[in-house]
Amino acid sequence: MKPLISLVSDTETRPTAAMRQAIANAEVGDEQRGEDPTVNRLQSRVAELLGKEAALWFPGGTMCNFVAIKVHTRPADALICDWMAHIVRAESAGVATSSGLLMEQIQTERGIFTPDDVDAALGRLETVGSPYGPPPRIVCVEQTHNFGGGAVWTLAEMQAVSRRAREERLAMHMDGARLMNAVVASGVSAADFGACVDSLWIDFTKGLGAPIGAMLAGDKDFIAEARRQKHIFGGAMRQAGIAAAGCLYALDNHVDRLAEDHDNATRFADGLQQIEGIKVRTTKPETNMVFFDTFATGLSHIAFLARLQEHGVRMGNVRGEIRAVTHLDISKADIDAALEAVRAVVLS
Ligand SMILES: *Cc1c(COP(=O)(O)O)cnc(C)c1O
Repeated sequence: MKPLISLVSDTETRPTAAMRQAIANAEVGDEQRGEDPTVNRLQSRVAELLGKEAALWFPGGTMCNFVAIKVHTRPADALICDWMAHIVRAESAGVATSSGLLMEQIQTERGIFTPDDVDAALGRLETVGSPYGPPPRIVCVEQTHNFGGGAVWTLAEMQAVSRRAREERLAMHMDGARLMNAVVASGVSAADFGACVDSLWIDFTKGLGAPIGAMLAGDKDFIAEARRQKHIFGGAMRQAGIAAAGCLYALDNHVDRLAEDHDNATRFADGLQQIEGIKVRTTKPETNMVFFDTFATGLSHIAFLARLQEHGVRMGNVRGEIRAVTHLDISKADIDAALEAVRAVVLS
């Protein structure tokens, strides 16, 4: 049988032989005690990359969101974000339960919002001198925006929201799971985006292709408190250098190549638009994601995905749409084969 072409997520990447070599050779120590030399090297490197004083190793990105938001807020505060944010739609109400926040959601098309949207959200929460609404404490942005279609905040858009948040003395946090995709797509440095926020994190297990690891950055006091919270969440590890070595390898070797994933997403979106009955939302992918629906073909998404899998291709069913994500293990030839499979399913 042909190997499966999986466009379900860029988390599907497997460590390459060279990355496994780096992992095998990793120097290690006790991460909980701050004694893992490979983790420490990665922390310095990421702090510099993101333009922050310090950075902290985490087993994964979801915990970075929970910990960062916990540090910035108190229970019964309000958090402002967009309605499609990963923290709202894909973390099992974890922020609501671990931090006890009201999440005031902004309606957007692509997950990108403006200072006026923040003002409107503040208006809905307005509580000065009133016990009725919770006090706004933090604004959260997502770069790139996953359910927004891999959308990229421009630097100007993010700076504008950041200025507004700072005028209101609100903290600002970035879910930068795919920040490096935004960096490669826009040519803006990670540190320039990082300067807009008080805390941000990147994921190594998405397009960067490592098996384990994420890293949260901020100023020294923030990271000291985040370390304590990480322990409370059970995220402190032991010889995590095994995993961090894969992340260092990814920073050295897998950043620039994200451009290939973006080209492949564009190739896929262009091809899909030639197929009758497929309605593409992300007609011009900004990074590595393509969202579409199949309703006009007469196939439900579940039926479409089941038939596609018979042709050796997998995609995701994400919030009412089909999502295809390109990544390290997907070549241009795989994209052409995936388009062929879609055509076969729709035309049969
Ligand atoms: C994947 C993802 C996360 C969670 O990261 P994990 O490392 O899988 O826990 C958070 N935010 C966004 C936007 C993501 O895509």
